[in-house]
Amino acid sequence: MSEKRMPVLFIGHGSPMNAIEENEFSQTWQTLGEALPYPKAILSISAHWETPSTQVTGMAAPKTIHDFYGFPGELYRVSYPAPGSPELAETVRGLVHSTAVRPDDTFSWGLDHGAWSVLRRMYPAADIPVVQLSLDRTLPPRDHYKLARELLPLREVGVLIVGSGNLVHNLRMLQWDADRPYPWAAEFDRLATELILAGEHDRLVAYPELGEAARLAIPTNEHYLPLLYALALRAGDDEVQFFAEGIVLGSISMRSLRIG
Ligand code: ZN
Repeated sequence: MSEKRMPVLFIGHGSPMNAIEENEFSQTWQTLGEALPYPKAILSISAHWETPSTQVTGMAAPKTIHDFYGFPGELYRVSYPAPGSPELAETVRGLVHSTAVRPDDTFSWGLDHGAWSVLRRMYPAADIPVVQLSLDRTLPPRDHYKLARELLPLREVGVLIVGSGNLVHNLRMLQWDADRPYPWAAEFDRLATELILAGEHDRLVAYPELGEAARLAIPTNEHYLPLLYALALRAGDDEVQFFAEGIVLGSISMRSLRIG
């Protein structure tokens, strides 16, 4: 094999404002983009695209989707005009056998803010093709993990796979004036970190068994599942590095990791 295996990322994206604000997270994304081997294409698994089956975007020019409400006008004017890659979409469909991956043939999707808020900081030139893979809301976490493993060959051909969500994500308990995390948020963040470092993916997949802190940290799992995609793509000798962490607004963990 001539090519070096691409790393895999899980990025805690937090507020859509990170797309336009200069802060420790957006700056970290920029530094990360500069440090990574330059990808041929990007496959994004975002918390913000849930569908009744697994779908993949296949358009040549995905639109920028502003899928949030009540934010400043500046954020709605952001465009991330990266090309798509119908070829990568076809490769993804060919690799996954555990479930049927459908093309997003209504072209209803594009790039949602889970994808572009991070990518516009990592790759501001928007010149790398980006494809999104949806989260099938009918699949149990175990099947998401299994599906993700089937994407492993993409790492060998220069594709950067980016899971975008948040390890702890409880919007109902958000505190705008929080100066410290909820104890359960800190507890689950710490526990998950230990399990990630120990490679105990089975326990992370079976997160409802991890107790009360997990229940509060993951009230719905769309922001957690992208982490399972990243973990499933870890190859045997890959190192895991945390490049961002911190709990914001009391109940959102920004913990982010690079595998390989
Ligand atoms: Zn989100």
